[in-house]
Amino acid sequence: MDFGLRGKVAVVGGASSGLGRAIAEELAAEGCDVALVARGADRLQSVATETAQRHGVRTLAVACDLAAEGAPAECVRRAEETFGRVDIVVANAGGPPATRVERATTTQFEQALRLNLLASIELAQAALPGMRARRWGRVIFLTSFAAKQPQPDLLLSNTARAGLLGFAKTMANEMASEGVLVNTVLPGHFDTARAAELARMRAARDGRPVEELLAARAAHVPMKRVGDPREMAAVVAFLASERASFVTGTVIQVDGGQTAGLL
Ligand code: NAD
Repeated sequence: MDFGLRGKVAVVGGASSGLGRAIAEELAAEGCDVALVARGADRLQSVATETAQRHGVRTLAVACDLAAEGAPAECVRRAEETFGRVDIVVANAGGPPATRVERATTTQFEQALRLNLLASIELAQAALPGMRARRWGRVIFLTSFAAKQPQPDLLLSNTARAGLLGFAKTMANEMASEGVLVNTVLPGHFDTARAAELARMRAARDGRPVEELLAARAAHVPMKRVGDPREMAAVVAFLASERASFVTGTVIQVDGGQTAGLL
């Protein structure tokens, strides 16, 4: 299947590691020029350089904290300045810390809402004028299966990500007749640095070996394994592609069957 992505321009958040990195790589493999966004400048630059060399596309490393005021819009501006336009936005970043209802502070909520709700909204809004002018755009929000099935200890994530589903559906409806398609992907358990960190924190808290926790995590997935980030990247590349031209407003679980409900 030809995805029709050659020559398109993508902005990918959280692109120095894990799911975002695999998505940037997949889009580059399909011929997109990619602006990679993440916090740590050195690591991001080496990922961007490696990606460009491997796939013969142009890349741009934009090191910033997406939670900072104005940062998402600045990322889009830099990509437009370098590549002339932005066709695809993959809104992704790190996740908030684990906490519980009785301990969570307003400051923690504000930080989580900035990073996992407002930064994604602002990234999409900033790219919208150009997408509408060309009547072609793809916005893909990467959240978590916690958006549909709230996870124990992940109160901040559960809250911010469910809010993003409401925004995504509203934006999809508003933009459907203008060629700008908006979809959301919900990762289940994937083998990434973030997942390892959460497992380490829980292991320390519960006094259990981390290997035991990781094995239990995989055992809860109907497919009996966690995902490879490339399995998420393949879904995102399809949604970004020309071939997904009648797909908008969807929420797609990429979780090995883990989400238990029907909706
Ligand atoms: P990761 O830690 O491997 O990568 C996160 C990336 O985001 C890195 O490039 C990091 O530099 C960047 N980042 C973090 N905070 C940022 C900020 N403030 N501004 C800019 N960039 C920032 O994480 P991952 O596992 O790839 O997770 C990506 C997203 O998917 C997270 O929101 C995570 O909560 C969610 N998620 C992951 C899993 C999983 O199993 N890995 C499951 C459900 C949801």
